Amino acid sequence: MMDATRITPELLRAMPLPQPAGSTDKNARGSVLIVAGSVEVPGAALLAGTAALRAGAGKLQIATCSSIAPHLGLAVPEALVLGLPETSAGGVDPDAAELLCERAKRSDAVLLGPGMMDKEAVAELTTGMVKDLSGPALVLDAEALVCLDTLRDPLCEREGRTIITPHAGEMASLLEIEREAVEADPFAVANEVARRFRMVVALKGATTYIAAPDGECWFYESGNVGLATSGSGDTLAGVVTGLVARGASPAQAAVWGVYLHGQAGNRLARSLGPMGFLARELLAEIPGVMAELA
Ligand code: AMP
Ligand code: MG
Repeated sequence: MMDATRITPELLRAMPLPQPAGSTDKNARGSVLIVAGSVEVPGAALLAGTAALRAGAGKLQIATCSSIAPHLGLAVPEALVLGLPETSAGGVDPDAAELLCERAKRSDAVLLGPGMMDKEAVAELTTGMVKDLSGPALVLDAEALVCLDTLRDPLCEREGRTIITPHAGEMASLLEIEREAVEADPFAVANEVARRFRMVVALKGATTYIAAPDGECWFYESGNVGLATSGSGDTLAGVVTGLVARGASPAQAAVWGVYLHGQAGNRLARSLGPMGFLARELLAEIPGVMAELA
């Protein structure tokens, strides 16, 4: 196992994000499809979608439960919002997988999971999408992570074009082990999962470990406890998705995304106070943190 490299501004400057030429239009800046939200947690789709735009993606589609779609459309006027059939438990009906894969073909990156409810429906939808989605990079978060153990073969076939963003509890569910076992050696767990499933793993916590399938690893430990707040992870997942859409490699997007999210929190801790800033307030900080690294 290689040692993990600390994520610093110097490291990021040495792996710069692709910059669009002045003549680039919104399609070429990267198109994102966010599949997120549920009747009870609609705002996760807003956070993740807006975060992708704040990370520099050019175009945003949000696919979510039909009953919340019009509300999201008004709350995120930048997005095309697709209302999907929903289950009696207020989640997205897994029959939507085919339609979503069709839509996804015209996207550069797809995020699946933030705020989604109805465990079984999410597992079925995730299975359908992982198996049928060729082309765009796929970011999986939250409820979409739980069934991955059954999807090892299709994930390996995607060969490094999948990124997962679990916290320790989600990683434990994915592996069907105790959370304490993940927390005992998160670096080794992230590494092992990245190799076994051929995907980029960002295992989140006060220290976040990022592991790539080729064994390369990074860590970020410069955030603050104010980031441990509702919606914070949804924002991170959206930033990472936006960065892949605009042309970053999956590992680069995870490394940059984790840093941008953490530094956005540090800026808010300074301007508002160390405790009590909101996940939605992270969004507007992202462009400024990126600009500092240019
Ligand atoms: P989630 O649990 O999915 O909402 O994600 C929480 C986000 O906040 C992740 O990016 C974590 O790395 C970050 N985070 C959680 N707790 C801390 C902490 N104590 N210090 C710094 N960052 C944290
Ligand atoms: Mg989360």
